[in-house]
Amino acid sequence: MLYLQRQDYHKILAHCRKQLPQEACGLLAGRKDGENCQVEMVYLLTNMDHSEEHFSMDPREQFAALKNMRERNMELLGNFHSHPISQASPSMEDRRLAFDRGLRYLIASLSEKEPVLKVFMWQEMEMKEETLLIV
Ligand SMILES: [Zn+2]
Repeated sequence: MLYLQRQDYHKILAHCRKQLPQEACGLLAGRKDGENCQVEMVYLLTNMDHSEEHFSMDPREQFAALKNMRERNMELLGNFHSHPISQASPSMEDRRLAFDRGLRYLIASLSEKEPVLKVFMWQEMEMKEETLLIV
C-alpha cells in the first residue's frame, strides 16, 4: 500500500499537466513500515529527454533530491512519470528501466478526461499494481 497525501497528489498532477505534451517525472520519498509506504515528499524533476514517449531524470536534480532526503531522514520510495496519451500501465521501456525491485513506480495517465494514477512494483517476474491511497 502506498499512501499519498492529497496535496502531493495535486502537486504531481500539476507538474504532469504543465509538462504536456511531454512526459513529466519525479521522485517520491518518505517512510516505510513493512509493506506500507507513506509519501512525505515529492520531488519534481526535469525530463531530460523532453519526449512525449519516454523520460530520463536530470542526474543533478536526482542527486540533489537524494541529498535532501538524507538530510530529512527520509527514504527513497520510488518515482513517478506521466503518460500523456497512453494508459497508466508500464510500457516495455518502463519495465526495462524499472530495475530497482525495492522501489514503487507511479504512473499518472492524462489520456482520459480524469487523470488515472497507478502504482506498480515488482513481484517475482511481473510488475504488479499496488494499492494507492490518497489521504
Ligand atoms: Zn511510461
